[in-house]
Amino acid sequence: MCIVGKGLGRVTLRGPFLFFILFCVIVQVLPSTLLDKTLSYMAQEELHVGQIVLVALRNRPCLGIVWALGSEGGKAGGGAAGAPSFKLKPILQSFPFYFSTQNLQFLEHFAQYNLFSKGFLLKMMLPFSVESFQKMIQEKEAAAAPQEAFDFSAPIALNTSQAQAARQLVAQNHFGVTLIDGVTGSGKTEVYLSVLSETLQKSSRKQALLLLPEIALTKASLLRFQKYFQTKPWIWHSNTTPAQKQKIWLAALSGAPCVVIGARSALFLPFSHLAMIIVDEEHDPSYKQNEQGTYQARDMAILRGKIEDVPVILASATPSLETVQNVKTHKYDCVLLPTRFSEAQLPHLHVVDMRLEQDFALLSQPLAQALSRALQRQEQALLFVNQRGYAPVSLCRKCGFKWQCPSCAVYLIEHKAAGHLLCHHCGYVQPLPFRCPQCESEKSRLVLGVGMERVLETVQKTFPKARCLCLSSDTLSSKKRWDQAMEDIHNNNVDILLGTQILAKGHHFPNLTTVGIIEADRNASGCDLRANERTFQLLQQVAGRAGREQKPGHVFLQTFAPESPLLQALCQNDRDPFYDYELADRQQHAMPPFKMLIALILSGRKETDVQREARRLAQTFPLATATLLGPAPAPLSKLRDTYRYRLLIKGDKGTALQNGIKAWAKSENPAVSLVVDVDPYDFL
Ligand SMILES: [Zn+2]
Ligand SMILES: [Zn+2]
Repeated sequence: MCIVGKGLGRVTLRGPFLFFILFCVIVQVLPSTLLDKTLSYMAQEELHVGQIVLVALRNRPCLGIVWALGSEGGKAGGGAAGAPSFKLKPILQSFPFYFSTQNLQFLEHFAQYNLFSKGFLLKMMLPFSVESFQKMIQEKEAAAAPQEAFDFSAPIALNTSQAQAARQLVAQNHFGVTLIDGVTGSGKTEVYLSVLSETLQKSSRKQALLLLPEIALTKASLLRFQKYFQTKPWIWHSNTTPAQKQKIWLAALSGAPCVVIGARSALFLPFSHLAMIIVDEEHDPSYKQNEQGTYQARDMAILRGKIEDVPVILASATPSLETVQNVKTHKYDCVLLPTRFSEAQLPHLHVVDMRLEQDFALLSQPLAQALSRALQRQEQALLFVNQRGYAPVSLCRKCGFKWQCPSCAVYLIEHKAAGHLLCHHCGYVQPLPFRCPQCESEKSRLVLGVGMERVLETVQKTFPKARCLCLSSDTLSSKKRWDQAMEDIHNNNVDILLGTQILAKGHHFPNLTTVGIIEADRNASGCDLRANERTFQLLQQVAGRAGREQKPGHVFLQTFAPESPLLQALCQNDRDPFYDYELADRQQHAMPPFKMLIALILSGRKETDVQREARRLAQTFPLATATLLGPAPAPLSKLRDTYRYRLLIKGDKGTALQNGIKAWAKSENPAVSLVVDVDPYDFL
C-alpha cells in the first residue's frame, strides 16, 4: 500500500489505519540525509533489504533504502527508541528498485573507512531529489534505454609484451589488484581494453567501470575507445547532463550490460553486475577528493572490487609509492611494459644547469636553441610552467611589503593580461597597484617568480613568428575551448604550447618533439609528504609527451640543483633508486604507506574559538596506541576569512584507528566546523 500526495508531510497513523498495523512489519530505513543511523518505519507490504523507499523525515519526504527488516538496532522514525510500533510512521512509497547486497556492503565499509555518515554516502549513491526520482520512475521506459552493444569481434593488435601482459590479466576471474606498469607511450590502454573485451565476452557479468582523472576524459580518449569497439562508452563526470546521468544510473542498478568511463564520482554508481574495474593513471592526485567528504577514489575502487570479488586493474607510467610498496610486498600483482609501442624511443633528457648560464634568462641557451630547431623543422614544442598568471609574488622594493589576499593567508598572483592581482583560493581581485599601501612609494612593485604569462612574453620576444597557445585551467574553463585547442594542436596550428600540469596527463601529440621544463626544482606542492613523489611523477609525465612517434624526442630540464636524487633518477631513466630512497625515507619517519594518517581541520570565523576547540580535542584524544600531532595553524592558516587549525593523527593501518576516533572527532562548538580527512593528500 502506498500513501502519497500533497499532504504526505502530515501523515500519521490514527483511527482506521490502526487496523492495518496488525498486519504491518517494522523495517530499518537508512535515509539519504546527513544522518548516520537507520530509523524504524512501518511497512504495510513486503519489502526487501536494499529496496528504495520514500519516507517522511522531520515531516519532509525523503528517499532512503531498507537497511534491515525488524526493529533491532535502530531508532524509531516517529518517536523515541523503543516506541510502541503504532507510533511509527509508515513507509510512504516503495519502488521496485534494489541496491545489491554488495552495494550495501560497499556503502557501509566506505563510510566506516572514511568516517562518513552512511546517509551522506547514500546521497552520493542515490543522487536525486524526491521529485526527480519519482519523475524518473514514471519515465523509466524511455530512460532505461540500453547502451549500444559493443563490437568485440575485431581483436586489438598487441605487440609481444602487451600480449603477454593481457594474457596474465585475462586469467583473473576473482578479486586481485594488478598494476600495468608501462613507460609512457607503451600502450597500456590497448592492454586493458583488450582485457576488458575478453572479460566482458566470457563473464556472465556484463558491466565494467573505467576510472580516469576528470581532465583526461576528453574526446581523444573516447575516440580511441570507439575505434576498438565501434561504440561510444557512457561518460560520467561533472558535465554529464541530468538526463544522461539518470540513464546511466538506471542501467547500472538494473544490471544492464554497460561500460562506463568516469571520473571518481562514477564509483558511486549502483552497479549490480560488475565484472571488472580499471583505474587508469592510478597515481593521479585528482583521485583524491578534497572537498565535501574526502576519499581516495583509487583505494575505494579497490575496496569495491574486493566486495564484488572482481579483478581491479591499475595503470600508470609513474605508479604511486603506495602501489609500488603493495607490489613489493606481493599484495598486488604487476605486469611490465618496458618499451614504447611501435618504433618510438624514449626521449633524450638534457639537464640544463642554470648556474652555468651567462645571463639569467627564463629560456636557457640549450632550450632556446632546441626551440629554434623545432620551429625550423615544423615540429611542436611544449614548455611546462606549473604556475598560472604572470608572477606568484609582488613585492615593494622600498619597504618589502608583499601583496596578500585580505581573506586568505596567501600572496596575490599577478595576471598581467587581465591587469589585476588575483587570489587563486577565493577569487579576490584588485587592479594592478600603482602605489605601495605600506610606504606609499609609487611604481615600487617588483615581481618574483615565474608564471606562464611571463614565459609566454619571453617566448614571443625570442620567436616573434611562433604560434603560441597557453593551456591552463584559467584559459580553458570550457570543454568546447579545450576540444578546440586539442584540434589546433593535432592540425599543427600551434608551434609552441605552454601548459601547466593539465598538459601532463595522457595526451598524445604526434608532432611534439621538444619539451622544456622551465623550473624543474619547483615542487608540485610545498607542504606535502608526497611533494617529491608528485614532482617526479609530473616531470616524468611531461617528459613523456615528447617524441611519441617516429621522430626522436628531447627534454630539457632547467635546474639549479642538477645533483638532486630526483633529477638524477629522471635523467638516467631509472626510477627505482628514487622510489627506494623515498620509501626508505617514509619508513624512517613512520609515514604512509607504512603508517596511516588522519587529519582533522577545524575552522571558524573567530581564531580564539578555533584554537580553543583544537586544544580541547587534543586534551581528550582517546587513543593510547596512536600519536597525535598538533594542534597547529594549518599551512593555509586563513582561507576565505575563516581561521584553520590542524590536528594530525598517526597510527597503524586498519580501521581500528577510525573506530577509535569516531565518537571523539566532533566539534562541540557550533561556530567551529570540523573536517576529518582519512589518508590526507592536501596538507594545506
Ligand atoms: Zn612599500
Ligand atoms: Zn583569497
